[in-house]
Amino acid sequence: MTPPAHSAREALVQYFRTDQLLGLKEVPVRLPQPRTSAPASCKKAVSAAAAAERAELLRVLDDDQVKKCTKCGLSESRGHTVFGQGSSAARLVFVGEAPGFEEDRQGVAFVGKAGQLLTRMIAAMGLSREEVFICNVLKCRPPNNRDPAADEIAKCSPYLYEQLAIIEPEVIVALGAPAAKTLLQTTQGIGRLRGRFHDFYLSGIEGIGPAIPLMPTYHPAYLLRSPGEKNKAWADLQAVMKRLGLPLPK
Ligand code: SF4
Repeated sequence: MTPPAHSAREALVQYFRTDQLLGLKEVPVRLPQPRTSAPASCKKAVSAAAAAERAELLRVLDDDQVKKCTKCGLSESRGHTVFGQGSSAARLVFVGEAPGFEEDRQGVAFVGKAGQLLTRMIAAMGLSREEVFICNVLKCRPPNNRDPAADEIAKCSPYLYEQLAIIEPEVIVALGAPAAKTLLQTTQGIGRLRGRFHDFYLSGIEGIGPAIPLMPTYHPAYLLRSPGEKNKAWADLQAVMKRLGLPLPK
């Protein structure tokens, strides 16, 4: 008998709480398949025409600008640009730091080990990657996964702002310090920022224009290195679920 969807999610939640999940390297796991649709959808109730229009705007931004971009030196060392992917009508957007080796190779965001963990975190929320949107501050990989330089962030972040303006999510999750610092224009560390919502202004100027609630949390790559922090990240994601009206696990 096929288990009910909520049981699959609860199984994932339990799994997320165990060290097994964060020790993916050694453990060939076969997790329950995530639901393809949540009881409360994480896609906005926009018309098919509006969703298609947003998808087209994202495609044009990617094809006409990001893929051709040479604004910073990372264009010389990249394999592929990594625009991000997911639903153009997503209520929830995850923003990470920059593509890694596997992302650069495939041109897809969050597909390496950290990406596999993010996929499981999203599944534990009762969602699928296709229902949300996943992207990074930088669209090209810094060599050897070094930290993004300030000028690279300054040159690349307008693409991210444009993506967020097109999608207009209800909540943003910033994964790790570079994403949180860029979007909130702060120098505070992720340990101080996480755990509560902040206002993100699409205008880039505090107090100007509409604000989107932003939850900073730990990057999945950090959680792989520091499994003791996973409960904090899960608490952050539960706060996001509550904000979106998604059912919380018992
Ligand atoms: S990192 Fe961003 S600004 Fe730099 S080349 Fe790539 S797309 Fe352009």
